[in-house]
Amino acid sequence: MINPWSSSDFFDYERLKRDFGIGDMNVDFDHFLFRRHLILGQRSIEYIDYTLKHNLKFNVMTGLMPSGEMHLGNKSAIDQVIFFQRLGGRVSIAVADLESYSTRGISLEKAREVAIEKYILNYIAMGLEPCEIYFQSRNSDVQFLAYMLGNRTNMNELRSLYGFTDTHDLLHINSPLIQAADVLHTQMKKYGGPAPTVVPVGFDQDPHLRLMRDLAKRMRVFNIQYDRDLIVSVKGKDDPKEFIDMAYDYLSKRFDGVKKDYEYRVVRAEGVNQEDLVSIDLDLAGMESHYNDFTFIAPSATYQKLMKGLKGGKMSSSVPDSLISLNDDPKNARRKIMAGMTGGRDTEEEQRKLGGEPDRCPIFDLYNYEVDDDRYVKEVYDDCRNGKRMCGFCKREIADRMSGWLSELQKKREEAREKLSLYVHE
Ligand code: SF4
Repeated sequence: MINPWSSSDFFDYERLKRDFGIGDMNVDFDHFLFRRHLILGQRSIEYIDYTLKHNLKFNVMTGLMPSGEMHLGNKSAIDQVIFFQRLGGRVSIAVADLESYSTRGISLEKAREVAIEKYILNYIAMGLEPCEIYFQSRNSDVQFLAYMLGNRTNMNELRSLYGFTDTHDLLHINSPLIQAADVLHTQMKKYGGPAPTVVPVGFDQDPHLRLMRDLAKRMRVFNIQYDRDLIVSVKGKDDPKEFIDMAYDYLSKRFDGVKKDYEYRVVRAEGVNQEDLVSIDLDLAGMESHYNDFTFIAPSATYQKLMKGLKGGKMSSSVPDSLISLNDDPKNARRKIMAGMTGGRDTEEEQRKLGGEPDRCPIFDLYNYEVDDDRYVKEVYDDCRNGKRMCGFCKREIADRMSGWLSELQKKREEAREKLSLYVHE
């Protein structure tokens, strides 16, 4: 069981991937987070790969919880959003003000202030181009869709995904449906129709991904399965004949040996390669969307590894000295770095002899997640391992870099304020 609202520590990522069917990251995106394997897992990333290779439209979706600080530990999701936006993705960002109200008791007014001051201005300062940023509480399409999605799940499922008990209030229980609607509404007709959508997340958010992917499939008329043969099943229509014929005609043009069965509401095709599944699903979704306003492609996801906090454990708002906030005063950030834990040895002599342990060093994580020069980061790693690098020097160097970057960001944040209306949709 993973609790997305309170998972507080590192996971055994490989076990989690095995237990919940999260795939290895197997697409070579040209960004250091991917090159350095800091993005460890994915769900149906082949959809995004396919759309990029064929120059098709795709969505990029993320949300922000307007509580606490935006810090380096949650920055890598935005780094990915900006990366995918530059590749042509259409970005939507949900301010989860209904969720912060229901799960943390934060008023909508406070949530708005925190979202703008601590998060959105930083996103723009980091280089996010104009996109759709909205508040859950003001988006009636999201609320309507959440209501409709409620018809496709039940308490048993929500209990097993989230561990809800009889004492959880209904607002909290409803919040995963709002999250699902956040991601899926970008595929509604008025937002451009069905399209692959990538959602960068931490592993602790996987229950949301599992739920929204299942809900997306349950809203579809056509569902595809692959078991050597391709099976397209037709769901939810009183008279499925028209849809069965539609799928049959489409598949017959591409493959031999296609059969339809009205009684079992399926179309079966032999000799289909697994690589063809994405294009088949996209084509069928395109056809279905003329009849079904809720035609969704199950969202894809990338899963990032947690950044270490400067005091050990994960970087978290509940331990202020463990994190570097993007709103930190550069001097304060320097102080925290200089007081941070390292993977160094007890004495300089031992460090020269045995080398340090960058894999368990929060200071090395600052290089790994924040310095985009691969060669230099590898040099830091190797020099540490070989005992050529001392922790004091390392801390001073990365503190200089980080405080310089924070000063720059501070200036850009003020310029960003002028552009807010290009982003925030009321
Ligand atoms: S030398 Fe740098 S990377 Fe190595 S353990 Fe010390 S602080 Fe960490």
